[in-house]
Amino acid sequence: MTKNEFISKQAEWKRYRFKIGCIYGAGLGLFMLWSFLLSGMKDLHGTSPLFRVCGFIYFCGGVLLFLWLNVRRMKQLGAICPNCKKPLFFNAILTKNVIATGKCGRCGETIIND
Ligand SMILES: [Zn+2]
Repeated sequence: MTKNEFISKQAEWKRYRFKIGCIYGAGLGLFMLWSFLLSGMKDLHGTSPLFRVCGFIYFCGGVLLFLWLNVRRMKQLGAICPNCKKPLFFNAILTKNVIATGKCGRCGETIIND
């Protein structure tokens, strides 16, 4: 992979991350609306047990789903170190390190060769 390919893959991954972040945020907005309606339009603090359970599942499950989708997208883009199998984009410092040195920041495997 060349440096330009790596940078454009990173930009594509960031767009994807932003998109699913927006979808998650929209879902959170619906939860707030639900809570608002449940409380008789008084405030945003849902007190019913069903709301609390659903909110907890949405929050925790959403974070796990967000991480899983991000790693899956990196695999699709080929942004996984071929040696240590770690994703290359999650940690901004490691990503900058790959761009600067062309090597994986964890194991030293050559990622960029141009
Ligand atoms: Zn590595």
